[in-house]
Amino acid sequence: MRIGVLALQGAVSEHGDRLASLGVEVALVRRPAQLADLDGLVLPGGESTTMARLCAQVDLVPALRERIADGLPVLGTCAGLVMLADEVRDGAALQGFDRIGGLPVSVRRNGFGGQLASAELPLHWADGGAGSGVFIRAPRIEEVGPEVEVLARWGDEAVAVRRDRILAASFHPELSSDTRLHELLCELAAESMDRLAG
Ligand code: GLN
Repeated sequence: MRIGVLALQGAVSEHGDRLASLGVEVALVRRPAQLADLDGLVLPGGESTTMARLCAQVDLVPALRERIADGLPVLGTCAGLVMLADEVRDGAALQGFDRIGGLPVSVRRNGFGGQLASAELPLHWADGGAGSGVFIRAPRIEEVGPEVEVLARWGDEAVAVRRDRILAASFHPELSSDTRLHELLCELAAESMDRLAG
């Protein structure tokens, strides 16, 4: 199994290390052609304005949209969530740059600013598990579409969500010991491999 990490900016090596620890081959993605032959993809955290600008320079957004619409499993974390969200409510700085979209949520890109600019917060998973998430200038998910499943909450707030094969989190799962989102991405990737083979 080969999982790509968008490697233009952000927490690239941390995601790579986490994926490698789960036994998958990691491929760094910097160009549209590098999206071929992937079974899954991580869009890391970092800074969405920089990420969107760098994506535009190499014309990556149309290819990302196409592969994700085709069913490529994807995990977007923090800035990666901002790239996937259908609506960004404080998106003035992103104007003029294409994002990927496709995840019916509305986010505020710096919604966890201020005192929560950087914090490890307790999480409750829909499957009953508990854990914690590392939030760094994190986007807040303010609204989720009816077709979106909430995977984890902090208090009442959705902080990890799923729609089909699109997974996204406000926090940085690669910075805590909880491997469940990366494992879920690998499960979806394995299912897609079976589907394509079958
Ligand atoms: N708020 C940042 C943004 O807009 C995301 C921060 C992060 O990825 N740690 O991109």
